Amino acid sequence: MSVRQVLDEMDYGSASENDHEARLWLDSYRRRFGHMIGGQWVYSRQTFDAFAPATGENLGRLSKATAGDIDEAVNAANAAYPKWRGLSDHQRARHLYALARAIQKHSRLFATLESLDNGKPIRESRDIDIPLVARHFYYHAGYAQIRNREFPNYRPVGVVAQIIPWNFPLLMLAWKVAPALAMGNTVVLKAAEDTSLSAILFAQICQQAGLPPGVFNLLLGDGKTGSALVQHTNIQKVAFTGSTAVGREIRQVLAGSGKRLSLELGGKSPYLVFEDADIDSAVEGLVDAIWFNQGQVCCAGSRLLIQESIAEQFIRKLKRRMSRLLIGNSLDKNIDIGAVVSATQLDRIKNMVSAGVAEGAELWQPKGDMPESGCFYPPTLLTSVEPAHSIAQEEIFGPVLIVMAFRTPAEAVELANNTRYGLAANIWTENINEAMDVAAQIKAGTIWINSANTFDASVGFGGYRESGFGREGGPEGLVEYLERNVHLAGQPFEGKENRKRLPSLGTKIDRTPKQYIGGKQTRPDGGYSTLYRDAAGNQIAELPKGNRKDIRNAVEAARAARSWPAMTGHQRAQILFYLAENLEYRRDEFVRLLVCLSGQPVSRAESEFSLALSRLFACAAYTDKFEGSVHLPDKNKVALAMKEPLGVIGIMAPEESPLLGLLSTTFSAAAMGNRVVLVPSETYALVATHLYQVFDTSDIPAGVFNIVCGPRQELARTLAGHGDVDGIWCWETETICKEVEYLASENMKRSWLSNGNYRNWHDDEQSSGIEFFEHAVNIKNIWVPYGV
Ligand code: NDP
Repeated sequence: MSVRQVLDEMDYGSASENDHEARLWLDSYRRRFGHMIGGQWVYSRQTFDAFAPATGENLGRLSKATAGDIDEAVNAANAAYPKWRGLSDHQRARHLYALARAIQKHSRLFATLESLDNGKPIRESRDIDIPLVARHFYYHAGYAQIRNREFPNYRPVGVVAQIIPWNFPLLMLAWKVAPALAMGNTVVLKAAEDTSLSAILFAQICQQAGLPPGVFNLLLGDGKTGSALVQHTNIQKVAFTGSTAVGREIRQVLAGSGKRLSLELGGKSPYLVFEDADIDSAVEGLVDAIWFNQGQVCCAGSRLLIQESIAEQFIRKLKRRMSRLLIGNSLDKNIDIGAVVSATQLDRIKNMVSAGVAEGAELWQPKGDMPESGCFYPPTLLTSVEPAHSIAQEEIFGPVLIVMAFRTPAEAVELANNTRYGLAANIWTENINEAMDVAAQIKAGTIWINSANTFDASVGFGGYRESGFGREGGPEGLVEYLERNVHLAGQPFEGKENRKRLPSLGTKIDRTPKQYIGGKQTRPDGGYSTLYRDAAGNQIAELPKGNRKDIRNAVEAARAARSWPAMTGHQRAQILFYLAENLEYRRDEFVRLLVCLSGQPVSRAESEFSLALSRLFACAAYTDKFEGSVHLPDKNKVALAMKEPLGVIGIMAPEESPLLGLLSTTFSAAAMGNRVVLVPSETYALVATHLYQVFDTSDIPAGVFNIVCGPRQELARTLAGHGDVDGIWCWETETICKEVEYLASENMKRSWLSNGNYRNWHDDEQSSGIEFFEHAVNIKNIWVPYGV
C-alpha cells in the first residue's frame, strides 16, 4: 500500500473526552439546579429540563425564575453595589484575578460541561471558548486595577441586567460579566434556557473564589424571565446578546426609561474571496468562518462572495473539503461539526433551507455519515442564490453557506453591504491595498483580512446597523459600563420661561429665511411659513415650516456629501478653523441676535459667542486627534481599531444657549466626518438660519450641514424613523425622546438623548470633548495578519 493510499483511506475512529468529572458535578447537585441570588442557591417551584442535544440525554432539572426571584436577585445586586463600588481598584482587581485563575483550574470541567449542554465540539470549547473566557477575566482584572487612572472622570453605572444566548454560553457570560464587575458594577445575569449549566458552575466558582455575595447573581429561566428582568425598575443598564427581533423589542420596552442599553445582535456576514487570494487558505478559513460552532455564530461568514473568475475552482475545492468534515458527538475529539443546540433550532434551519430551495437555490451536501439520532445538520452549500432571496438576507444560524459571485471590487462591496446587518466581514486577497480599501468600505464592526472568527479581550466587538450598538472587549467595551461624573439634570439657562421675563433690547430684524439643504437655500416643500417673534414679542421674521419631504431631501443631500468623510482630519480641521474665522467677523450680528431673541444681557451673549468660537476651535483640533488605536491580540496579527463616522446624524438642537448648544453638538458630529441634518430650536431658529452665509463662505462642501426649521416633534419623528439616518441626537422633552428612541429601533440607529435633562453649555466639562465624539463614531476593528 502506498503512502498516498494510506492517507486517502485513513479513517478516524472516535476519541471520546472522558465526561466522568462533568457527571460527578451534575450528580453533586442531584441534577437539580437553582438560581444564585445573594450568594445562595435559590430554587423555584416551576422547573424546566436541560438536554444534551447530541444524545437527547436529560442532564438535569433547572429552576425557572418567578417574579419574586427576579426581585430578590435585583435587590441582592443593589445591596451589594455600594460596597463593591467602594472597594479600591486593587481589591476589585484581585477578585477578577481570582476568578480568572479559578476558571483555568476548572477549564476541563467547564469545556466538557459546555460541549455536553450545547452540543459544540469539545475541541472548540476546550481550545477556544474556555481559554478566551479566562483571557477576558485576566484582561479585565488588569483594567480593574487601573480603572481610576484610565477613567478618572467616570463612575460605575450601578446594577446591570445581562442576557446571553446559547451559542457561546460561558464566553458570552465572560464578555459581559468581566467588564461590568471590573468597572465596579454588580450584575444579574440570565442564562439562555437551553444552556445554563456552565453559568451555574461559574456561579459556584464565584462563591468558592470569595466574590462578595450579591455581586454576581444568576437567574435561570426563559424569554419571559429575560423580559421581566429588563423591565425591573431597580436596574440601571441592560446588556443583551441575541436575535435582532428580541433586541428591538427590548429597546422599545426601555424607550424613555433612561436605562443604558447595549445590543449585540444578529449578522449575515460576507466572506469575500478575490481572484488573487490564496485559495487553499481561503477554503480552510471558510471552514472556521461558517462551520465553527455549527454556524451558530453571530459573526459567521455565512455569505460567500466569490470573484467570478475563480468561482468554479473554489467551489470544487470547497466541496472536497466539506466532504472531509466529520460530524458526530460533541465529546468526540476528532469531530469538526457537533450538534446544533436544540430540536427547535434544527427545525428553524431545515425550514429556512427549504424556503431557500423553494426560491430557486441549489442545495449541495456531502455524502458523509450522519449520526442516527440527536440534533445534527450536515454542512450545506446553497448556490444559485439571488440577493433578494430570504436565505441571502436572513440569519440562518446553522452550518449553511450561501454563495454569490461578483466581478469587480465595487460589486463585491455592494453585495457585502446589501444587508440590514453589519457585524463582521472576511476579506481574502493577497493585495493589502485592495484589502484595506474594501475593509474601509464595508459597514461592519469587525473585518478579518485573510482570517476568520478570531477574537481577543483587547479587541472590541460589536455591530453597525441592525447588528446592534455598543462594544464588548477593549477599552471601548468598558465605557459601556461607566457613567460620566457629571450631574446634568437642572434648569435651562435661557429657556422659554426666562425668555419671557427678560427685557428685550428691541432690535428689529426683518427676514424671510428658507431651509438650508445641499448647500442651497430652498423653499419649504409644504409652502407654509410661521411668524417668528423676538423676546419682546415683536414679529421679526417668517420662518419656513418644514415637513417630512424637507427632511427626506436634507437626508438625501447629506448622503450625497461623500467627500466630507473621505477627507483627512487635517483637511476637515482647516475648513472648521476657517469657518470659525468667518463666524468671528459676524460677532456683533450674532451677539445682537442672541440678545434680541433671548433677552439675555449683552455680556452673557458675548460670553456665549466667545465660547462658541472656542468650541469650534476645539472640534477642529480633535478632527485629527480623536483617532483609533492598534492592538496586538496574537502573534502575527494586529487589529486596527478605526474610528469611523456614523454617517448621517440627525440633530434636534438644544433649546438653551442657542448658539453654543447648536454649535457644540453640530460641529462635534461634523468634526468626526459625519454629515448633519439639523432641526433648530423653534424659539431660536433664527440663530441657525443666520449661519447659512457663514457656511457659504467657508469651503464647507454642500450637504455637510443641512438645516430644516419647523415643528420639532413632527420633524424629530421623521428623522428618528428614517432608514437612511444612522444616528440621532435629541435634546428634547422626555416624551419626545421616548418616541424618538422607539422609532430609532426600526433601523437600530444609534441615539443620544437628553431625556428632558439640560446641560450647562457654558461648562466645558459637561458640554464638549470626548463624550461628544464617542457618540459620533463607530469603532471598526480590522484584523491584519502578517508574516504567515
Ligand atoms: P433570542 O434572541 O430569543 O434569545 C437570546 C436571549 O434572550 C436568551 O437568553 C433568551 O432567553 C432571551 N430572551 C428571549 N426573549 C426575550 C425577551 N422578550 N426579553 C428579554 N430576553 C429575552 O434568540 P433565540 O435563542 O430564540 O434564537 C433565535 C435566533 O436568534 C437564532 O436562530 C439566531 O438567528 C438568533 N440569535 C443570534 C445570536 C447572536 O449572537 N447574534 C445569539 C442567539 C440567537 P431563552 O434562551 O431562555 O429563550
